[in-house]
Amino acid sequence: MNAPPVQPFKEKVFSGVQPTGNLHLGNYLGAITKFVALQDRYDCLYCVVDLHAITTWQDPEELPKAIREVTAAFIACGIDPKKHIVFNQSQVSEHAELAWVFNCVARLGWLNRMTQFKEKAGKDRENASVGLYAYPNLMAADILVYRATHVPVGEDQKQHLELARDIAQKFNNDYSASIRSHGFGDAFFPQPEPIIQGPATRVMSLRDGSKKMSKSDASDQSRINLTDDPDAIALKVRRAKTDPEPLPHEEKALEARPEADNLVGIYAALADTTKAEVLKTFGGAQFSTFKPALSDLLVAKLSPITAEMRRLKDDTAYIDQVLADGSIRAQALAAETMKAVKDIVGLVRR
Ligand code: ATP
Ligand code: MG
Repeated sequence: MNAPPVQPFKEKVFSGVQPTGNLHLGNYLGAITKFVALQDRYDCLYCVVDLHAITTWQDPEELPKAIREVTAAFIACGIDPKKHIVFNQSQVSEHAELAWVFNCVARLGWLNRMTQFKEKAGKDRENASVGLYAYPNLMAADILVYRATHVPVGEDQKQHLELARDIAQKFNNDYSASIRSHGFGDAFFPQPEPIIQGPATRVMSLRDGSKKMSKSDASDQSRINLTDDPDAIALKVRRAKTDPEPLPHEEKALEARPEADNLVGIYAALADTTKAEVLKTFGGAQFSTFKPALSDLLVAKLSPITAEMRRLKDDTAYIDQVLADGSIRAQALAAETMKAVKDIVGLVRR
């Protein structure tokens, strides 16, 4: 028997958030709280993915504000931009460069299966941007240009992560002889692992339990924004769609009740516990009891973040400095990968 293969890649975390509008509770619970928690164990890169944002129309007046707001949210939620790397994607051109190589590795058939493109392009697919279609290849490049091994994301990004793994594998296979002859051993890219855990990996719209909470949803009532004040939070929770039954005692009974399941999941994630534990307290209670408790918990958790975001938002010079510093440090890493990729592919470089 051979010894089990040693993981040759240094463990590293990468993830991103698009500056496409108001950050919401889904982004916070599905992604940003995970980003914060992973800082103790890994070297992390957290990216404001502005090149992804422009796959759908963004007003050039609004986009820089949105980029700075996501950066402020990262910091307000507890990401340390000195110990780790916080930056915006467009300042590190290697992301787009590697994405082109991946455009030539990924197969049309793979991209045709991506559900996010189908949802975002809607019925008028002919009129969607080419960028929206190729989005998953850029996402693979974001991760793999750092040869990152762990990617905290919400459930909706699982399929894109699988594609990134397929791209890494195909690159490693197609170029295996060149990878070996350039001294990179059996594999140049790692297989990045998604980190999708806990009771709120897919926070649903407050208006429709079958749709995920999204920045791009036209209805502001569908989401809790990180910038909402306590009154707005209380109103949105009070108006959140539910059914007329009291909460069940057993978690299993939530399966057929998506709206109830969503609110219990949000409570559990905020209280850092499980849905089963929440139902030990609230099983048998009416929504008229549970909703105010949920509002109070939301306000307690989010209002310090909102206050800090507001303070940071006015300090444009500081935010821009964080992004400049982060992108210089990120680029130093990305440039090394890109040089190696050029050598492996056979592109002559200076
Ligand atoms: P858009 O509608 O523009 O795609 P979005 O709300 O989906 O915006 P993204 O910037 O695409 O936000 O995603 C950032 C991170 O937040 C990703 O890791 C994504 O999986 C996660 N995320 C987004 N929506 C939710 C949600 N409803 N529940 C849990 N995680 C989510
Ligand atoms: Mg999204």
